[in-house]
Amino acid sequence: MKLHAQTLFVAIGLGIKRNWHIFLAIILGIIFGNFLHDVTNTQNIRFVKFAHIAPSVINILNIIGQAFIRVIQMVVIPLVCSALIVGISSVGDSKQIGKFGKKMIIYYGIITILAVIIGAGLVLIFQPGIGIQHFISQQASVDAQTLVSAVIEEQRGNIGNIFLNMIPQNPLESLAKGEMIPIIFFTLIFSLALSKLGEINRPIVSFFESVFAATMKITDWIMVFAAPGVFALTTVAVSSFGLSIFSKLSLFLGIIMLGFIIQFFVVYPILMKIFSKVPVTTFYAAIIEALLVAFGTASSSATLPLTIACCEKRGISHKVCSFVLPLGATLNMDGTALFQTVCVIFLTQAYGVTIEPLQIILIMLLVIISSSTCAGIPGAGLITIALVLNSLGLSPQQLVEGFAFLFAIDRVVDMLRTTVNVASDAVVAAVIADNENEIDYDLLNNTEEYKDII
Ligand code: ASP
Repeated sequence: MKLHAQTLFVAIGLGIKRNWHIFLAIILGIIFGNFLHDVTNTQNIRFVKFAHIAPSVINILNIIGQAFIRVIQMVVIPLVCSALIVGISSVGDSKQIGKFGKKMIIYYGIITILAVIIGAGLVLIFQPGIGIQHFISQQASVDAQTLVSAVIEEQRGNIGNIFLNMIPQNPLESLAKGEMIPIIFFTLIFSLALSKLGEINRPIVSFFESVFAATMKITDWIMVFAAPGVFALTTVAVSSFGLSIFSKLSLFLGIIMLGFIIQFFVVYPILMKIFSKVPVTTFYAAIIEALLVAFGTASSSATLPLTIACCEKRGISHKVCSFVLPLGATLNMDGTALFQTVCVIFLTQAYGVTIEPLQIILIMLLVIISSSTCAGIPGAGLITIALVLNSLGLSPQQLVEGFAFLFAIDRVVDMLRTTVNVASDAVVAAVIADNENEIDYDLLNNTEEYKDII
């Protein structure tokens, strides 16, 4: 099967590197998605003959894309639990776990704080919200309003509950519901307990070693379908907003994208340079498949198996990957934090609400909480933003309109912020691995030897 697929790709001139296939799938998805958007949204005579089949095409692609996301999500919970259990019990010594944990909090903290500062700086300098109120109300659709009102109500005064909800009353219930933070909370404590038991923990650790190996094998198989899966997801996403959205909202989207570019090309490289000797470009090349899949799926959780595979197969130790990456995919959302900061201040500008410097700091703090409690799934960053919006002093009508407006543009930004979220998880794992001598530089630097993640 593998040989067949490779022969076919070579035959059509694509070489055998899977990352190129996924990249091409994204480009084709953008072009085809934009075409489908134009077909379904304009009365252009040229498109008439396609207009009636376009919705069915979108429907079929949606099923293919969702099937791809579902199969990856299927392995995420067994993967996270087994990775943490094997990782923590293999570290054994709780001092080393403490060191990993401390470094993780510091590095994830630094990049998230920088993300909100960059977001706030850009939106305050360029003021994209001024004069855009009219456009926002036009965007508010009746459908979105019902959902939005429910979400805002649910998030009201919820900060205390957010922390309580991290502790599972019944871990099995959390497992069944797929609630990542409570699952990780329980698994961490369970793994720490196992690591203290000595030899008696062997049967259960061996069991989870097999679970981990099997889930990684399934990930390998799933990656055979990465290119068509990502093509389908990108096409469907772009068909819903169309590329013209960039000209309508160029300043607002431009600022968010500039923020992401600064995180990716300035903040992470500086972090790697200051705190480690990880070579920046080589490392980005090592994780490119994960970044492309993050863009296509807009889900850090769904990308997690691949992030682990890229990092482990290219030199970062299992100990570090299995501890830092699952936690990062759930708690470290700096791209989301940057996006939320820009959106919230943008809305205050649009509605002419003056905010004092102290309020800006409060917004930044709330964003750090709301982004890190957001699940690594598509659209989650928009839902938790309600927590911050509630603190702004906008009228209920303005909140609903503002939220509905963000809702309309969310998918495009979600694909980008998820790529940033996944990149930072991997960067922090690499820096910690470097600090702790847990990185094989011969493997990382030998890009010629990189194998596809299958
Ligand atoms: N989709 C993002 C992620 O999975 C979360 C968000 O919506 O911001 O990382």
